[in-house]
This record gives sequence, C-alpha cells and structure tokens, in this order.
Amino acid sequence: MIPFLIPPFKLIFVANGSSGTTQGKPKFVPFNDELMETTLQIYRTSYAFRKREFPIENGKALQFIYSSKQSKTQGGLIAGTTTTNVFRNPQFKKAMEAMQSQCCSPDEVIFGPDSHQSLYCHLLCGLIFRQEIQFISSTFSHSIVHGFRTFEQVWEELCVDIREGELTSRITFPSVRSAMAKLLKPNPQLADLIREKCLGMNNWYGLVRELFPNAKYIYGIMTGSMEPYLKKLRHYAGDLPLLSADYGSSEGWIGANVNPIVPPESATYVVLPNIGYFEFIPLKENVEEHVQGEVSNSFLSTEPEPVGLTEVKVGEEYEIIITSFAGLYRYRLGDVVKVTGFHNLSPELKFVRRRNLMLTINIDKNTETDLQLAVEAASKLNAEEKLEVLDFSSHVDLSTDPGHYVIFWEINGEVGDEVLKECCNCLDRSFVDAGYVSSRKVNAIGPLELRIVQKGTFQNILDHYVGLGAALSQFKTPRCVGPRNMEVLQILCDNVVKSYFSTAF
Ligand code: AMP
Repeated sequence: MIPFLIPPFKLIFVANGSSGTTQGKPKFVPFNDELMETTLQIYRTSYAFRKREFPIENGKALQFIYSSKQSKTQGGLIAGTTTTNVFRNPQFKKAMEAMQSQCCSPDEVIFGPDSHQSLYCHLLCGLIFRQEIQFISSTFSHSIVHGFRTFEQVWEELCVDIREGELTSRITFPSVRSAMAKLLKPNPQLADLIREKCLGMNNWYGLVRELFPNAKYIYGIMTGSMEPYLKKLRHYAGDLPLLSADYGSSEGWIGANVNPIVPPESATYVVLPNIGYFEFIPLKENVEEHVQGEVSNSFLSTEPEPVGLTEVKVGEEYEIIITSFAGLYRYRLGDVVKVTGFHNLSPELKFVRRRNLMLTINIDKNTETDLQLAVEAASKLNAEEKLEVLDFSSHVDLSTDPGHYVIFWEINGEVGDEVLKECCNCLDRSFVDAGYVSSRKVNAIGPLELRIVQKGTFQNILDHYVGLGAALSQFKTPRCVGPRNMEVLQILCDNVVKSYFSTAF
C-alpha cells in the first residue's frame, strides 16, 4: 500500500519498508532531508551514551554495510533502500567521522555492485586495519553473524591475499579492485599471525576478540527478529560486549538505546520526541488484526483510541503510529512495544514483536515471539548434541486436512533421527496458546511437521531478496512464509532433506 503523503517534499525515495524484507514485497515510502537529519540525530544521541561507557579513540570500525542499486521512478524520483539512501548521503560520512566511527572499507566496497564481493572486501579491510578497529557493527546483527560465518569459509583465501598483497581473482569489479589495491600490500607477518590464530581457535569461539584486539564492542540491532542470532554472536564475540543499536524503520526512527550496557535481551529504546509525532494504540486481546501500513483513521470502530506520547502507561503494550517529517500521516508501523519506564518524560520502549499474526489455522494464534520461543526450547535438545539451528522459518500448510504448522530448520552438522523427532515433538508442545493446544487435542490442527533443509538454503533466500533489490544491510529472515512469498516457500520446499511429524498429542 502506498501511504498517504503530505506535500511539500524535497525528495522522495522508494525504500524497502518493514514489509520489504519480511514479506517479500518492496514497499514505497518517502525519504527526505528531514528524515536524514533525524537519522543522524538518533546516531549522535546513542553514540553519546555509548561513548560514556566505552570511550573510543581515533579509530575505525569494521562495518558490514552494503548499498543496493538506486533507480528512478516513472516520475523521475530517485529510489533505493533506506540504508542505501543514508550511506550515500554526504552527511552520513561527516557524522561518522565526527563520531570516530569511519568504516574501514572504501566507498567502492560499500557501494560495490555485488554484496558477496563487498563482504569479502569488508573482511579483508578489517584484517588490514585490525589494530585500529574500535568496534564491529551492522544495521541488523544478522549481517555480523553472516560476516563471520563467511570468514570461517574464506579465511585461508584472505590470508593468501594479505601474504601476497594481491586481491583474489574472484573480486571482479574494477572499481572495487582498484580501491582495494591501494590498501593491500604484501604482509606475510600479518598473514602468519591470522593463520596461527585461526588454526588455534576452538570452534571459532572468541574469534572477534582475537582478530580485533582493540575492539571495544559489537554494535547492531539485536532485539526482535535478531534475537535468535545472539547465541552465535556471543560465541564469536567471546568476552566482547554486545550493544543493541537503536529502534527505527525505513518509515522513520523512533528511539535511541541510552543504556548501552544492558544485555541486548533487555535493551530498551527511549523515544526521541522531536523526530516525529508518535501515537500509541493500547493493545487488548481479540482485536482484529490490521494490515501494516494502513492509514489509521479507521481504528475507532474496532479498537481503543490511540494515546499520546506522555499518556502511555508503564507495563502496557501498544502498537506504534508514526506521523513523520517525510510525510507519512498516522502510519501504522505494525510493531508492538511495551513501555518499561520513562527517561525524563519520554517513554522507554521494549520491542515486543511484529503485530501481524503469523501462524494461525483456526482459533490458534501464534506470533513471531511464540515461534522463536518454541525454536529456542527445541534447539536446547539439539544443544546437548552440540548442534546448532543456523536459521529457521515457518509455514501454515493448508493443503492437508486438517492443516498443520510446518517449521523449517537449517542445522549445522549431522543430527540423528531420534533427536530430530524429539525436537519436532518439543516444537509442537511449545506452542502453548490455548487455541493451538485445544485444536491439536481434537485434531482440528494436524501434527506439526519439522522439515530440515540443506545447508545454504537460507543463504539462497538472502540471495533471492538481494536479487530483488533488497539491501543486505536490512535483511531479516522471513519467519513465516505464506502465499505472499511463494518463491521463498519454493526455495525452502526444494531444499528439504528430511521431515518429521510430531507424535506429541
Ligand atoms: P526495515 O524494513 O528494514 O525498515 O525494518 C524496520 C523494522 O525492523 C521495524 O518495523 C521493526 O519491526 C524492526 N526493528 C527495527 N529496529 C529494531 C530494534 N531495535 N529492535 C527490534 N526490531 C527492530
């Protein structure tokens, strides 16, 4: 849906909004100079709080940031993902310099046409400047995990490049090659050191600390749909603190993390009251779900009145409505937040979940959080076998009678059938919503199915989105795949290697 826009604009861009990366359909939302300014304001605010806890000296940052292609709309406006708009803006670079947070990679790498090649070069630049790296970051923390998973596969090649001062031939874009040639000099000592460190690692635990001895922290959005990656991130980080970045969306920023030292699981965001006009719909049970992005002047008949910024109550959950400087008017973001307190007079929010119901067949209602908790519980059985769920998604299969939930897992290593059968039962039992449990008991919902997909399947999904023009920086694995993104469902189904049906009920 194209949101209602208020003139005058200076510029309008097309961005991948919240649904762009979670539901597979890019969405057109406006972006202008004012939104850029609020972006910088959020960055500066949280940086001030971070710096108080973790002062950083003149240095660089290893940032897994990427741009996607920009294009022109029929009306001649420039279109691109939000992160692309931000990274390309000259103000961004200036602000990063002022915050001593310059990306260690040259622009040609950030704006390179192929994100695989850019990722390789980000890693190479990080190693070249390893002593100067003060922190490691990305917009969403998935990109950091993705970066170090890739490092596990390419570290030997990186060492060869460093030893010989010559970039691997698989980086093919001339602009990227010539920018990297300026940085890369033969350095056998560094290559030996990295090789020694990699060979000495125990399952890559503490990799980031080892590679970047002066890094103070790892920084990126780690809450919400990024929480499932925390375990892996902690593994790579070793004793390096993880700091969750701010809360916002392509549609507009909302709040800054002013307590950076709390663990990401407890991170909250203080609303910056002057970066938009915020309203909050109190949530109550059994309210009809809405379509994300709809203009919100129709909630009066079915839902409670939205309340203002200072009227929210601690402990209550709300859905956020944004009126932004870019022109969105009373726009429903589709996010549910909980008010945990006030910082001065502005509410402090904990991100709870996307509001859209995810898994539902009849009277059952399970959200992204319910799915995440179920996967966590079931993967603990896996942990005993030292196995890891690399990524997951889900689907409601109505082609069977009755319909049933399907959970897709990509796992690391070989797992015995018995363990996976038990994981499948555990998943089924972990959806504790009364509607689901009662439907399962009377077989109004069929046994849950766990489908194991082959390694690399979620990488294929990421590549699919990037191919559609999504930015790697904003990638979020779709946690529930339905008729709206049949292509992703097809990728998942084509890669199934084993499947199990629950016998839990
Ligand atoms: P995008 O589509 O890339 O603009 O993503 C925006 C969405 O990402 C938001 O609507 C949230 O659902 C999610 N998001 C952004 N920041 C955070 C955060 N700090 N914690 C949890 N989820 C977030």
